[in-house]
Amino acid sequence: MPDSFNTLPRPGGLSLKLAIQNGTVITQNERREVFTGDVLVEDGEISKVGEFSDRADDTLDASGCVVMPGLINCHTHVSMALMKGVADDLQLEQFLEKTFAIDAKRTPKDIEIGTKLGCMEMARSGTTCLLDLYYSQDAIAHGVNEVGLRGYLGWAVLDEQFTTQKGRPLDNCERFIRAFTDCPLIKPVVAPQGVYVCSDETLLAARELASKSGTFCHYHLSETRHEVYEYKRQKGMRPVDHLSKIGFLSKGDIAAHCVWLTVNEVRELARCGVSAAHCPTSNMKLASGGVAPLPEMFEEGVGVCLGTDGCSSNNSLDMFLEMKFAALLQKSSRWDASVLPAQKALDLATIDAARSLGAEHELGSLEPGKKADIVVVDCRNPAMVPTTRENAVANLVYSSPSKAVRDTIVDGRFVLRDRNIVSVDEERVLDAAADAARELMS
Ligand SMILES: [Zn+2]
Repeated sequence: MPDSFNTLPRPGGLSLKLAIQNGTVITQNERREVFTGDVLVEDGEISKVGEFSDRADDTLDASGCVVMPGLINCHTHVSMALMKGVADDLQLEQFLEKTFAIDAKRTPKDIEIGTKLGCMEMARSGTTCLLDLYYSQDAIAHGVNEVGLRGYLGWAVLDEQFTTQKGRPLDNCERFIRAFTDCPLIKPVVAPQGVYVCSDETLLAARELASKSGTFCHYHLSETRHEVYEYKRQKGMRPVDHLSKIGFLSKGDIAAHCVWLTVNEVRELARCGVSAAHCPTSNMKLASGGVAPLPEMFEEGVGVCLGTDGCSSNNSLDMFLEMKFAALLQKSSRWDASVLPAQKALDLATIDAARSLGAEHELGSLEPGKKADIVVVDCRNPAMVPTTRENAVANLVYSSPSKAVRDTIVDGRFVLRDRNIVSVDEERVLDAAADAARELMS
């Protein structure tokens, strides 16, 4: 672990004053305005949105392009990008057995390489910010920082009997938080993995660490029916009810999955201020059964955001696809095409996600004063023709535009420019990732 994260190099591509000109700007502001015009970035922040003729150090012609806020992936295990295709088409128990066996062999080096691979895929598909849950978050922080994405990184905390971590997970998490507190792109988070590997004592200790460190907890919750029923058999209560009773659930937390909930549990999450990170692809692929009750969450006031989950259960980190599947899954299961419209799906991956992270004043929309996390999508692409101001949001959600992503900017710096990754040597990372994956699977 480094002495100070600030000594690490920041990725390149800084533009002091950058003008993004003449694009179809999807602001995601309060009024969800879409207009043709410009976005000005100064020292990492958006300073103007509209039409202006300021001189800039650098300009980006966005004619024929959509300019939008970067997508926010609120539940992933990014370093598992190396583990694509290792456990497909298996029942959950066999899936877990297979992935845990590979996981146990992992080294910090291949975790960092997997992270860079995953971050490059994210940058190429319009994601600028991720919320991660894993161990060895120090290695992940290096990878995220080098590629230049914004990372909320949750160190996995669980009972010692279940972990492959060296040392006490809670102590490891605390050390990680201390070492990475002042890094511009990294925010440490406490991540009690799930009720099936965390005793009440572990959960409450994680809660205490998060409170005293000024961060939140991120955890898996009520993903499968088996998990919920097994928990109820042991504890006599469903997970959300129990976690509420012991005082664990807290404002600002983000719980991944939240598939198997009663309406009372939905109300309990709303009352406690816990957001749900919905992972439709992972839930469908692993046949978790059931569908997360999003309409009830909206109705009761639970914050909802979206996540891809890891690459062993999703095989992709593409948030455009996640928006599409989220919308389709609700429509299909509720027999109602008007449920979860395109605009709401985009909200879940941008401004609603920022709110779930407690960062709505910094992220999630293109407005003056916010961080310059911006994506440019080239509409001169078969998937995006025709794009007008009227159908631009629908195209982003339903027309799978990730291959049309041209530029990705995080904190005012280019990660992807004119379809080239500029922060790291992409070819070298791809080779290193293929080698590391081969070794891991051997
Ligand atoms: Zn997960």
